[in-house]
Amino acid sequence: MDNCIFCKIARREIPSNKIYEDEEILAFNDINPAAPVHFLLIPKLHIESLADVQDSHQNLLGKMLLLAQKLAKEQGCEEGFRTIINTGRVGGQEVFHLHFHIIGGRERLSGMIHHG
Ligand code: AMP
Ligand code: ZN
Repeated sequence: MDNCIFCKIARREIPSNKIYEDEEILAFNDINPAAPVHFLLIPKLHIESLADVQDSHQNLLGKMLLLAQKLAKEQGCEEGFRTIINTGRVGGQEVFHLHFHIIGGRERLSGMIHHG
């Protein structure tokens, strides 16, 4: 995707603070962190959102989840972290290239789900 900001990061056309890379996956720090640890995990393949994944992406998605916890611990989230995947307009997605937010630090994060 020519104009996708995360594809550009994956192609190294724009810089990022990279924390992990392999043939299929890239992780880099969020430019506007919500907590001391806040990085994004993306597939290099342009998939718009979690609403667009296919059966053929099953291995890739599993690999991303396994990496999420491994990288979270490496980045200092030994006592837990939050994983967020915003999806579509209703989900508040702003960048339409699938990404997992991994957020944490030393302090307990504030509640996200408001009932009622
Ligand atoms: P979302 O609302 O889930 O689509 O979140 C998009 C996230 O991407 C936000 O947390 C932004 O701060 C982050 N972001 C946008 N541009 C960049 C960039 N160039 N490098 C790192 N993070 C970015
Ligand atoms: Zn993309």
